[in-house]
Amino acid sequence: MSTRMSLGQRYLMEALQVPKIHRDRLRKRVREGKCITIHEDGSECQNPVVSRGLCTLCKQHYYLARRKQEGEAAKIEFEKEKVNQGLILPQGTQADWTTKNPFLRDAS
Ligand SMILES: [Zn+2]
Repeated sequence: MSTRMSLGQRYLMEALQVPKIHRDRLRKRVREGKCITIHEDGSECQNPVVSRGLCTLCKQHYYLARRKQEGEAAKIEFEKEKVNQGLILPQGTQADWTTKNPFLRDAS
């Protein structure tokens, strides 16, 4: 990790970790090339994963909801909440979820 990173950025990076309880399911979905969304009826989204663990449509819905949060702090809070709930992957980590390297596995 870069030493130039501000404490705030570091905090955010550390905070934006998918909790262990969600990791196996998300890793399996991303490896299968599927979107990680679970619909309210319990069915899983069958669309291909594009980025952040989501398909194009689910990602659009996510960003729409994020945009509706007022102010940058609320947007960051919203993002953290969704990552913690295992609904979206932290930015720039999708490739780590398909790796077979045990250290990178723990990093995602
Ligand atoms: Zn989807």
